Amino acid sequence: MNQNSIEKFKEELAEIYHLGAAVSVLHWDQDVNMPKKGMEMRAKSIANLSGILHDKFVSPSFSRLVRAAKKELDGGKLSDENACIVREIWREFSREKKLPLEFVKELSETTSVATSVWAEARKENDFGLFLPYLKKIVSLKRKEAELVGYKDSPYDALLDAYEPGMTAREIEMIFSELRDFLVPFLANIMKSKVRVRNILKGKFPIERQVEFNKAVAEKIGFDFDAGRLDISTHPFTTQFHPGDVRITTRYSDRDPFYSIGSTIHESGHALYEQGIPMENFGSPLGDAISLGIHESQSRMWENIVGRSENFWKYFFPRLKKAFPKNFDKAEMGDIYRYVNAVKPSLIRTEADEVTYNLHIIMRFEIEKELIEGSIAVEDLPKIWNSKVKEYFGIDVPNDALGVLQDVHWSGGLIGYFPTYALGNLYSAQFYEAAKRDVLNLEKEIRAGQFAHLLNWLRKNIHIHGKMFTARELIENASGEPLNAQYFMDYIEDKYSRIYGF
Ligand code: MG
Repeated sequence: MNQNSIEKFKEELAEIYHLGAAVSVLHWDQDVNMPKKGMEMRAKSIANLSGILHDKFVSPSFSRLVRAAKKELDGGKLSDENACIVREIWREFSREKKLPLEFVKELSETTSVATSVWAEARKENDFGLFLPYLKKIVSLKRKEAELVGYKDSPYDALLDAYEPGMTAREIEMIFSELRDFLVPFLANIMKSKVRVRNILKGKFPIERQVEFNKAVAEKIGFDFDAGRLDISTHPFTTQFHPGDVRITTRYSDRDPFYSIGSTIHESGHALYEQGIPMENFGSPLGDAISLGIHESQSRMWENIVGRSENFWKYFFPRLKKAFPKNFDKAEMGDIYRYVNAVKPSLIRTEADEVTYNLHIIMRFEIEKELIEGSIAVEDLPKIWNSKVKEYFGIDVPNDALGVLQDVHWSGGLIGYFPTYALGNLYSAQFYEAAKRDVLNLEKEIRAGQFAHLLNWLRKNIHIHGKMFTARELIENASGEPLNAQYFMDYIEDKYSRIYGF
């Protein structure tokens, strides 16, 4: 392949990215702006464009370019940047090539029906309704693992789609250490005499909340000239390119923290996307590394920064000013304990920092055994409920609040859950490294200054796109491989002080 053909490959690739950006605009518009009657036809527009996108990616002419580029890569003739692009596209390309069209179609049709059946089953609290669909999905995902191939566990093949290079064995080691720390630690918190006071009083006008959320996002570094903050049912971040990154949140007029937490979380995702160099748009050099690394950015800002005492020392007076009557009796200590209250709960999405990973660990344990075939889908409610009892010490009253709570499995997203917890672990390790490098980081946060932290994240994570694997990135940034110790130290230090033991 000569210089011209690698350029031709990159040109064609950029076209695929532009088409992808257009599809993302349609998705964003659907979730934020669209009238009800637009739904059905919009779904068709998206399906059609996605089809064109996929056809282009696997077309004979693009395949030729990819194969030629792969030869160049193997011959060691590419620059680091081009090598990264070809390596990543080859990964995606060869995975897709291993999945026959009929298989992809069957999976997509099954999950599309299963998602609406799941919603019904959850509403009716009827696991039996969902059971045949979940069985089908599990068997299709096991087939996918066989088609893709793996070394140790079939789960690795699924995990690889979300957290490339990570293995079930590695996660098992990290998670079991974490679980063995968290379960007794949570039990200690439950014995504590410290009570968290409810500080919410009266109504919090939405317009003032919108203003406050925008101010917080802007203060931590979200660039409103390169993005927007809107409202949607489920908060999310989407990017068309680094110059246009959209985030959403949702509001409750009874609870301003309901929106603030998710705004900071999505801002964290957005800061990553806004931090990727614009000139790298159109190839994996301009893509985030993995779901776990992405989540580390959202969770660092939401939890480690956004639930810290220093953060609220700066923002609490401003919150009080925005809602003077609501918070006239609240003190700094009240608010700090309130945003960090720990309570074992049935629902993952409502979980605090201490219990959240336990929700993920039990899902990982279940998924892995399902895919390895060592447990049966029929037994899930029983297995689920006994794990909740063991880890959280609480009883699951019904399947809607138990095994049926998450949408992921109905959508075929098996191997996705671990990335949430990996995000927490990465975030603590990154933050410790940033604290070593940035002088007086905590003092800066107390003064409402976030630029040095953001610069550290930009330099060590954001600008690199997919240049490094997650494994290389964490080692480069922190000096060692991913491990749970930083997260456990962070939790132990913070919560033993809050709960007085
Ligand atoms: Mg997230």
